[in-house]
Amino acid sequence: MQSEEIREKFLKFFEKRGHVLIPSASLVTTDEAGAMDATLFNTAGMQPFVPYLLGEPHPKGERLVNVQKCLRTIDLSDVGDNTHNTFFEMMGNWSLGDYFKKEAITWSYEFLTSKEEGLGLDISHLYFTVFTGNKKVEADKESIEIWKSLGIPEHRIYYKGESNWWSAGLNSPAGPSSEMFYDITEKLGDMTQEEFDKAEDEQKVVEIWNDVFMMYRQENGEITGELPQKNIDTGAGLERITTIVQGKQSMYETDLFLPVIKKIEELSGLEFGGKFDRQIKIVADHIRTAVFIIADGVIPSNTGRGYILRRVLRRAIRYSDLISLKHGSLLALAEIIIEKYKNTYSELKKNKEIIKKEIDVEENKFRQTLEKGIREFEKGEDPFVLFTTYGFPIELITELAKEKGQKIDLEDFNNKLKKHQELSRTSSAGMFKGGLTEANEETTKLHTATHLLNSALRQVLGNHVMQKGSNITAERLRFDFTHPQKMTEEEKKKVEEIVNQKIAEKLPVILEEMPIQEAEKIAIHSFNEKYGDIVKVYSIGSEGDYFSREFCGGPHISNTSELGHFKIQKEEAVSAGVRRIKAVRNR
Ligand SMILES: [Zn+2]
Repeated sequence: MQSEEIREKFLKFFEKRGHVLIPSASLVTTDEAGAMDATLFNTAGMQPFVPYLLGEPHPKGERLVNVQKCLRTIDLSDVGDNTHNTFFEMMGNWSLGDYFKKEAITWSYEFLTSKEEGLGLDISHLYFTVFTGNKKVEADKESIEIWKSLGIPEHRIYYKGESNWWSAGLNSPAGPSSEMFYDITEKLGDMTQEEFDKAEDEQKVVEIWNDVFMMYRQENGEITGELPQKNIDTGAGLERITTIVQGKQSMYETDLFLPVIKKIEELSGLEFGGKFDRQIKIVADHIRTAVFIIADGVIPSNTGRGYILRRVLRRAIRYSDLISLKHGSLLALAEIIIEKYKNTYSELKKNKEIIKKEIDVEENKFRQTLEKGIREFEKGEDPFVLFTTYGFPIELITELAKEKGQKIDLEDFNNKLKKHQELSRTSSAGMFKGGLTEANEETTKLHTATHLLNSALRQVLGNHVMQKGSNITAERLRFDFTHPQKMTEEEKKKVEEIVNQKIAEKLPVILEEMPIQEAEKIAIHSFNEKYGDIVKVYSIGSEGDYFSREFCGGPHISNTSELGHFKIQKEEAVSAGVRRIKAVRNR
């Protein structure tokens, strides 16, 4: 069974059971200039769903199914073994306050084992886990009973702690999960809990499906209450499922990667399955990832998303050198990937020329930098400076040193690298935490108030007012916008009055999703934001008489009447031509 068929079967299976198929969200997270600035890319299938898991109604209903593009780049240096990679597709079926454990478990089991409608996996190689419980949540006996009702013997069901607790960070919707594992050796049979844990450590059994019972609110890693509704969030990694269905040892041997691996073999004259496997896998993984990132509108740069793309591309270039791929080979590989995925992800087809151009430009740029770096190296520059400033991989520095009969102080390099990585890890963890902390009731209200403020400012000051940034905490909103001079007391008063008037009018807040061309005609958006083909527009007011319409990822409250009294606390300069307002609401 080819990967295309697995994807299609999955979607069909759940469509038949009342789920509405929704397209993958962009890899790029919607961060509305800081208001919901989570991670740079979607790292899990649930990330685009957070507002809906928290209770916002989804425009497509309560039962949804999708395949979400995801990206994890935290373990870049681990890529190249059998299990780590960067870009992946997560298949998921979602219940937003609709069905719960029984249906979720039953359907995941049916899909995995049914020969007609699903994957037809051999039940004798499957194992099941449930949450062992903690101080606040009891052991998941209910799931055990459901598994037993499907004919699973109790001794194939294991209790797990932390690994069966799922959330997207310390501040996030969360819940216990039940997971399905597959014995890739296909000969383990019945195991005790101890044997099972060991087999998992040794990667003889691998997790292939996760049913998450998303029903708790988690703040700073602590459960602080229940969500307004009980949700189902399931995840099944397409790469892993395909590996098992096709009976392979790694995803690189499946049809998801084979076309590109074959091309690498052809262009390098090397054979996959030999001593250059690691390099081949890195090139295949990284070029695939780069193609998908660029297709979603990111270009190489030195910060944020652009920097992640740059690193991935430069590693691909460097590793392609190590397997004697000529300058330009990456372009040929990119074409193969576009060909493979274009029917599933039309953005690859649509942006084919941009993708190729960006890869080409970056390759040329990097090769020039390499030359410069080599000159610096010859002058005796610190390897770590070469690494950080010129993007010089340590493997290359070591090679060069060897040629010159010099030795690199690897210990010194590694110490500096470690410090550097700790710094970047803390900052990215902080980013994620910051993002989802914001998604509580108070910040949701202030977010809606921000939209009212934006429109009021445009009414009072003029349409040159554009959002430049926004940051919301539970205590206050902060809104940066373009305006050439300090606001007068009168202008501030007028803006407050308008916002409070709109609160008093009890206006509904309406969410619509529409093609970007349509949205651009009716709604405003902030500076420098990139959007996908389909965007969300939040409108405040009633049809034909909207007070505010903005591109926005949400979440929002459903009526302005919930806002209380709006008050501007401070208006100040941020930089030339940009002003900042801090405002609060009195409950
Ligand atoms: Zn917004």
